Formats: sequence, C-alpha cells, structure tokens
Amino acid sequence: MIKHQLLDRGIKDKKVIAAMRKIPRHLFIEEDLTNMAYDDHPLPIGEGQTISQPYMVAAMTEELDLKKKDRALEIGTGSGYQTAILAEICKEVYTIERIKSLSHKAEETLKRLGYRNIYFKVDDGTVGWDKHSPFDKILVTAGAPNIPDTLFNQLREKGKMIIPIGDRFSQILTLIEKINNSLKKRALFECIFVPLIGERGWQDGA
Ligand code: SAM
Repeated sequence: MIKHQLLDRGIKDKKVIAAMRKIPRHLFIEEDLTNMAYDDHPLPIGEGQTISQPYMVAAMTEELDLKKKDRALEIGTGSGYQTAILAEICKEVYTIERIKSLSHKAEETLKRLGYRNIYFKVDDGTVGWDKHSPFDKILVTAGAPNIPDTLFNQLREKGKMIIPIGDRFSQILTLIEKINNSLKKRALFECIFVPLIGERGWQDGA
C-alpha cells in the first residue's frame, strides 16, 4: 500500500507516510473484509457508508500540511481510520459523525489503540463544533453541495479546509484557505464521496 498506492503516486509528506505505515487499517474494517483492508479502493463500513481509499486519505491529509501543534476538526468519523491519521500528526482532533453506531464503534477502536487526543461527537457536522473553534485545519470526508459557511467561520486565519464539493455522485476535492478573513479556493481533482447530510449539506438523505 505505501509504495504502490502512496509513494509511486507522489505522496511526499513524511508525517503522513509514517502515520499510514503505523496504523493497522485492518482494525477499522469489518472482519469479513479484512483481507481487502490495504487494497486500492474504498470499502463498506456498514450503515451505507465507506472507509476512503488509502490514497484519498493520504492526499487529503497531505494537502492540509498538518503541524504537531494543530487542532483539527474532522466531519465524518466513519470507521475512525482518517481520525487516527490526524491524531498521529496533530495535537488534538475533534471528530463529528451523524450516525451513532459508527461513532461509537470508531471511538472504541481508537481508545483501544491508545489515542487520548481525540474528542468525539454524534451530531450534524455541517454546523461544526463552535465551542472548540477556531480550528487550524478542517477535513470533511463527505461530499457537500457547497462550502458550509459555518465551517469556514470556525477556521482560524491562515487555516486550511479540505472538502469534496459537487453533486451527490461526483465532486471536486477542494482546498480552502482563509486569508485576511476571505476564502481562497483551489480545485484539486475529481472524487466520489458519500453525501454530507445535514443543515448545511444535502437536505434529505435519499
Ligand atoms: N473518514 C472515514 C473513515 O476513515 O472511515 C470515512 C468517512 S465516510 C466516506 C463519510 C462519513 O461522513 C460517513 O460515516 C457519514 O455518515 C458521515 N456524514 C455524512 N454527513 C455527515 C454530517 N452532516 N455530519 C457528520 N458526519 C456526516
């Protein structure tokens, strides 16, 4: 996975590579699928949701240019795998998942692995986590129709947010920077994520 899926495709950030080398991805996957845990595609994690492809996790994390002192907000805990990558690199990770069973399972896995710098919440992540803002970095792991202003407002000045923006079935991975309180946007590449469902995301869930 590290050589063929990450290094050969241009992932360079040493902290991201070290985190992905260290974290046992198979522990975040349902037992009957663990033989595919390191394969080059997303996998189902139950409740109609997915764990992202390893390259996608690496590319999103790398674009955020994470620092040891960073406090990060993640929207869409899912299996908790991406959360673990963030927690390896940053000081604190605040992660929100709208589906209770996924959040609880991820919390159990991450506590078992010894992480003590992750804070979990079951809620609509499109409204963010104002109490703990501003965040240095925000990572959204579900596809949104547009950039939720709530999340942009909770980003620190010079902070970065990565979010898939588009329609329900295909998006453009987009990097946002907050410069002088205004939004600087860079389109990265096409991607396909499950929908971000909530007040500032897709309204219905269909
Ligand atoms: N990063 C995850 C991992 O490593 O397993 C993969 C996340 S999956 C692609 C997207 C997740 O976003 C799903 O678990 C879904 O339930 C969650 N989600 C969708 N809309 C949400 C919202 N408004 N707030 C919080 N979580 C949301």
